[in-house]
Amino acid sequence: DDDLGSEVEADIHDDFDEDDLLGGLDIDSTADMSIPDQMVDQVIGQDEARDIVKKAAKQRRHVMMIGSPGTGKSMLAKAMSHLLPKEDLQDVLVYHNPDDGNEPKVRTVPAGKGEQIIDAHKEEARKRNQLRTFLMLIIVVIILGYTIISNASILLGIIAAIAVYILFRYTQRGSDAVIPNMIVNATDQTTAPFEDATGAHAGALLGDVRHDPFQSGGMETPSHDRVEPGAIHKANKGVLFVDEINTLDVRTQQKLMTAIQEGEFSITGQSERSSGAMVQTEPVPCDFIMIAAGNRDALENMHPALRSRIKGYGYEVFMDDTIDDTPEMRRKYVRFIAQEVENDGRLPHFTPEAAREVMLEAKRRSGRKGHLTLHFRNLGGLVRVAGDIARAEDKEFTEREDVLQAKRRSRSIEQQLADNYIERRKDYELTVADGDVVGRVNGLAVMGEDSGIMLPVMAEVAPAQGGGQVIATGKLQEMAEESVQNVSAIIKKFSDVDLSEKDVHIQFVQAGQQGVDGDSASITVATAVISALEDMPVRQDLAMTGSLSVRGDVLPVGGVTHKIEAAAKSGINTVIIPKANEQDVMIEDEYAEQIEVIPVSHISEVLDIALTGETEKDSLVDRLKSITGNALDRQVGT
Ligand code: ADP
Repeated sequence: DDDLGSEVEADIHDDFDEDDLLGGLDIDSTADMSIPDQMVDQVIGQDEARDIVKKAAKQRRHVMMIGSPGTGKSMLAKAMSHLLPKEDLQDVLVYHNPDDGNEPKVRTVPAGKGEQIIDAHKEEARKRNQLRTFLMLIIVVIILGYTIISNASILLGIIAAIAVYILFRYTQRGSDAVIPNMIVNATDQTTAPFEDATGAHAGALLGDVRHDPFQSGGMETPSHDRVEPGAIHKANKGVLFVDEINTLDVRTQQKLMTAIQEGEFSITGQSERSSGAMVQTEPVPCDFIMIAAGNRDALENMHPALRSRIKGYGYEVFMDDTIDDTPEMRRKYVRFIAQEVENDGRLPHFTPEAAREVMLEAKRRSGRKGHLTLHFRNLGGLVRVAGDIARAEDKEFTEREDVLQAKRRSRSIEQQLADNYIERRKDYELTVADGDVVGRVNGLAVMGEDSGIMLPVMAEVAPAQGGGQVIATGKLQEMAEESVQNVSAIIKKFSDVDLSEKDVHIQFVQAGQQGVDGDSASITVATAVISALEDMPVRQDLAMTGSLSVRGDVLPVGGVTHKIEAAAKSGINTVIIPKANEQDVMIEDEYAEQIEVIPVSHISEVLDIALTGETEKDSLVDRLKSITGNALDRQVGT
């Protein structure tokens, strides 16, 4: 078995032509792709989650999905509803309770039956009304006839007639009250229901009873008519999907848990001072499968009892962010484009060249060599923007240049901000991209998820008044302290200067931004501090990113591709990155020629490249090499 497995794998590998972006497909356009009928088969990647959803649908189990947005969680939840039997579907009716108007009765009937019941009730009410109208007319005629014959006052007659009319209206309300209120109507459902209750407030999730401004005097709407179902009731026999589950308030999570446990849940008015709060129905069925979703934080903030409920009666699954890049996968991505085009309904299909460009973006956005991104919502956004551009020009197909234009247009807010920021700083000449400066290093940071920014660090060392301190501006204090702490062990080993007697001032130039990650700046801080201590200038046509171990090893960081691109945009020509990130570099062609990327694995290499002033530098780098590594390791160990 094992042999066969590896043979097959080897086969695929042999066939894999890196440059064949469509995985061997020979198509005229994405219109040639056939799309699976079943939604669950349209899901790309996420094999584990898909298997679990299929299994859970059979066994009627709850599922917890943890993962990044736009990777297919709600798509899978919806697909699950298509796998559930629709024979079980039910209509739910709420009836007036003659014994207690505030406790409406609830009846469940097979799908389709509810409408018949309502029709029958309406017909009956109509007949009764006809009869009453007829009787009323006779009475009015008699009264008027009598007043005329008996010569009594006309006014009296009219008053009597009006009294009869009011009586009639009043009794009509009574008879309308008998018509039940169908709160769940499954008649036209072709699949089991799918309810997305993400971000729903308590009423929308658990049901509500509307407020009645006229609470007495014959004007009121009967309470059963004011009952409104919640998502949990509409999802009966189907799927209830709640994303960002941790953002539901604790009381609502508790009630949700009760609903899951009991399989039924009374509807009551959710706002305490409303007349609806007096009303509480009999239990309403809510026998749904729960799919709770969220990112990693969701696990921590979710009500523990609710989580264990789902866990104990179901599955938990992680969504993948990327997937191995294989010919088969590439073909599926082409199908993905076709799916998005078909779903939208108005976009022109993509030419093979356009599909290749999307494919390149899928590779690039994965941030890992040999992988494709599974963040399909964003990728779908690119497909739609490109398609829209082509459509605006009445093209038959979406072409490569449309995709290229879409890429420029569909930049995230962070990317736009970062670009804007880079431009502004160029204006103010805050960006230094040539010459040598002591204590100043061009660092790189990530903003948001998908954009880099250059973030220069300046260090200055001065004799301390009391004990040595790390001083940084504003919010970055903590991050600076951490970075300096990380590098202080190394500095201590090679420098005669005792850092504990010095104040180290660190300034992150113009870092008014969020999302600056301290750890990935630690080689930058180390280089700046060493440069300041030793009074050796740093090349400014160079930028760097990397994390530092106490032994001086340069450790991998996130977002290298975006960082390199940001450096290129700022006019930098050399970027130092951790060796371990070498595989993740996927910069766009336009930058590739402009910038040299140097992977390093040790701080001594960083200094070798970044510092200028040959003779002193050599001795410093040599010292660093000999002191760090094993020697330092031993020292730190003791
Ligand atoms: P999530 O719930 O994880 O935030 P969605 O399921 O709402 O993401 O995904 C948004 C859209 O992106 C879907 O409607 C679908 O068009 C596309 N999509 C997401 N994940 C996948 C996937 N794994 N395969 C195919 N299309 C996907």
